[in-house]
Parts: sequence; C-alpha cells; structure tokens
Amino acid sequence: MNTKVEQKIVSPSAKAIYKASHQELQRLEQTMSFYKEESDVSLLNRYAGIKAITLSKETMAILQRAQDIASQSNGAFNPLLAPLIQLWKSAGIKNQLPTCDEIKSTLARCKPKNLVLDHNHGTAYLKQKGSMVDLGGIGKGLAADVCCDLYQKMDVTSAFVNLGGNVKTIGQHPDQKPWTVGLQHPDKPRGHCYGAILCSDLSVVTSGGYERYIEIDNAKYHHLLDGRTGFPATSDLKSVTVLSESSMTADALSTAAFVMGLEKGVDFIYNSDALGGIFFTTSNEVYLTKGVRSYVKLLERLTCYEI
Ligand code: ADP
Ligand code: MG
Repeated sequence: MNTKVEQKIVSPSAKAIYKASHQELQRLEQTMSFYKEESDVSLLNRYAGIKAITLSKETMAILQRAQDIASQSNGAFNPLLAPLIQLWKSAGIKNQLPTCDEIKSTLARCKPKNLVLDHNHGTAYLKQKGSMVDLGGIGKGLAADVCCDLYQKMDVTSAFVNLGGNVKTIGQHPDQKPWTVGLQHPDKPRGHCYGAILCSDLSVVTSGGYERYIEIDNAKYHHLLDGRTGFPATSDLKSVTVLSESSMTADALSTAAFVMGLEKGVDFIYNSDALGGIFFTTSNEVYLTKGVRSYVKLLERLTCYEI
C-alpha cells in the first residue's frame, strides 16, 4: 500500500495479534494492489474488454462499495481513474502537461459504468479495453476496518491503527481517555496539527492535496484528480477529514468531498452515512458539520464555522 502502518494493540497477546494483522494486510495487498501482477485488481484490468473474472466475495464487496460511492458522488470519487492517473504520472516525468486530446481520449476509458458487477455469478467485468480499476482511494480504509475486525475477534478492547492517515480506533486509550487523532495542518511540516479529534470506536480519514503531487514547469499538480475535467481537482479546500464508523466509507468519502469542494462536499457528507466532516479551506478557515463538533479540539487560532 506504499505507506507506513502504525498499530497500538492493548492486550497480553499483542504480539500474536500484531502478527495476524500483518498477515491480513499482506493478504489484502496481494488481492487489491494495482501493481501486483497476480492481484484480483490486476486480473480484472488485464481482461478488460475480453471477459468477466470470478472474484472473492470480499473483492466484489469493495468494488460494489466503490461503485456506489462513485454514483452517489456523481463521479467525484471514481475507482476507474487509473488511466488518467497514469497520464498525469507520465506528464510529470516528461515535465510536459498532457494535451486536451490526450485527456479526452483517456477520460473515455474512465467511466465508472465501464465496471459491471454480477453478484449472482460472483464476477466483475470491465466492458472497455484499456479501462482499469484502482482502489487507491478506498483500499487503506478497508485495511483499517479489517485490522480492527481482527482485533475485536481476538478480544482486544483498546486499539489504534493508522495506515498513512487512515486512522481507526477501538475503545479507549489505556489511560481511560478517548484516543487522540491529530489533524495535520496542510501548510505546516508533517506532525504539526491544527486540531485533534478525541474519539472511541471511530475512524478518522483525511484527504488533501498538500502531500502528494507532481511538478510540471515548477507548478504543482496534486494527486486527487477530477474525472469530469481530467485535471487535478481545483478544490477550494486544502483538506477534508471525515469521521465514520467504517474506515472504508471515510476514506472514499474524504476523497470525494475534497474533489467536490466546500459547498457540494458539505451537502454530500450530510447526505451520507458518515458522522460528519472537517473542511479546511484554501483561505485557512475551518468548517465543521454538526455531527463532529463535540469530537474536535482546535489547537490553533483559526476562524471556525459550524455549517
Ligand atoms: P491518499 O492515498 O493520499 O491518502 P486518498 O485516499 O484520497 O489519498 O486516495 C488517493 C488515491 O486515489 C490516488 O493516489 C489515486 O490512486 C486515487 N484517486 C485519485 N483521484 C481519485 C478520485 N477522484 N476518485 C477515486 N480515487 C482517486
Ligand atoms: Mg481516500
């Protein structure tokens, strides 16, 4: 998953549980990775336009969830953006912006409807040659959920897992306080937080345009793309944090809300099954939806609105 994983497991058998969760993470990587040749995702992509592939229930379920969120978000979240992601990656390497024609022809392969799921037969099919699924915007969330399910199966009542900014907590911190999850300031060095979330049994996921980007002619182009324009999302947000019981939901929804921008993103989060969101705008103002207010502690003097 190309990320650092941090786990805190409060249990006399913590080491054995850690070993088991490590194995689960490797298993997920083997099935969901875009880059591993034998993964379910690679198999599906290789047979695009050729034939349907039989997949496990788990893979079918994440594909279904990704497709549902794509439709609920009107394509702001799009698990079929891989061809566009590749186009921008190679643009960065060549130090040359993609042309409008390149973007247009690439976008034709990125339509979420190109993915056809058949749950009766347990198969998935990419209708168009050159279409590709990429679960990069949702996979780390699933992985956090899988880790926490395992902890609970092994009777852990206090745990914390962080997969590159996808955090999920179980129970309370061993000091009988809620877990504290820092909110990274988008403009400041890593580890500098503008606020914190105090929570138990909840996932906290942030998407932002500030950490991963390419440069072309000294201009920055971040990694969250808008499948409707073909360009990096021109969001009026620097980051969005979503709180939800399900980390998979929080992961995909935070990506979608970032791409949508403040106004549409807030509406979208209110209409979703997430608890709520924290929106950090390009003018360094913070907007909180009602459901998250009691969890947020601001650590800096920022203009903050409840929306
Ligand atoms: P990060 O991986 O940086 O934590 P996200 O969870 O938001 O951030 O996912 C970003 C990854 O998702 C990108 O690296 C890319 O693979 C993919 N992606 C980019 N734009 C979108 C989008 N609009 N919808 C779905 N996935 C996307
Ligand atoms: Mg995401």
